[in-house]
Amino acid sequence: MKNEVQKNKEYEYKCIQCGNCCRAGFEVVIEKEDIERWIKYEQNEFVQFIQIDPKCISPTGLGGFHIEEVNTLQKIKETYKENEVNEKLEDLKQFILKNHNYFGKGSPLPIYTFIPDLGRTPILVPKTFQIILEGLKWGLIYTIKFELGGYCPFLKENLCSIHQIKPNVCRSFPYTKNGELKIDDYLIKICKGISKDSS
Ligand code: SF4
Ligand code: SF4
Repeated sequence: MKNEVQKNKEYEYKCIQCGNCCRAGFEVVIEKEDIERWIKYEQNEFVQFIQIDPKCISPTGLGGFHIEEVNTLQKIKETYKENEVNEKLEDLKQFILKNHNYFGKGSPLPIYTFIPDLGRTPILVPKTFQIILEGLKWGLIYTIKFELGGYCPFLKENLCSIHQIKPNVCRSFPYTKNGELKIDDYLIKICKGISKDSS
C-alpha cells in the first residue's frame, strides 16, 4: 500500500501499515499477471493459498448479491449457443473436479454451486499455477483463501510477508482502477490511514 500522501476531495490517505485491510475479509482476486509473477519468482507453494471464488460458479449467487459480469456460468451461457451450453458446463465441471482439491465447506455464507455434491460454499484449491491460468481462460475467478475470521494467510506479524510480489489488487488498494480513492463507510472504519483532508 502506498506511503505517499494521496488526496481526494474530502479525504487524504497515507498507509500506516496497520494491517487492518488484510484481516477485514476483503476479497483479493488473483489476476493472470499475479500468477506469472509468482511463477517467475518460483513461489509455487502459494498455490495452496488460492481457491475458486464459489460465487463465480453459483447459479444463484449469495442471496441477492449476484454479480452476473463475474459469474462464469453466465459468461458460458452468453458465449455459446443454447444447444452447446450444457456440454460446456459439463466440461467445466470435469475441469474443476479433476484439477482442484476439495477441502470441504468454507465460510458459513450460503453459496451453492452448480456442482450440488460439493454442498455449501466449497473450498476448491487449484493443484498448480498452470491450472489457475487454464481456469482463468474458462472465466473462473480465483481469490486468496482467507483464514477463519477473514485473515490473509500472508499477513505475518501484522505485515504483508509477500510485499514485493503481492497481488495487483493489494498493490492498488484502496484505489479504484481509475486511481480514485475507494471511500465508503466500511473502509473509513477499518483503514487507519484515511482521514478527513485537513488542508
Ligand atoms: S497479500 Fe499481503 S497485502 Fe494482500 S491481503 Fe494478503 S497480507 Fe495483505
Ligand atoms: S488498513 Fe489502510 S492504513 Fe492499514 S494497512 Fe491497510 S491501507 Fe494501510
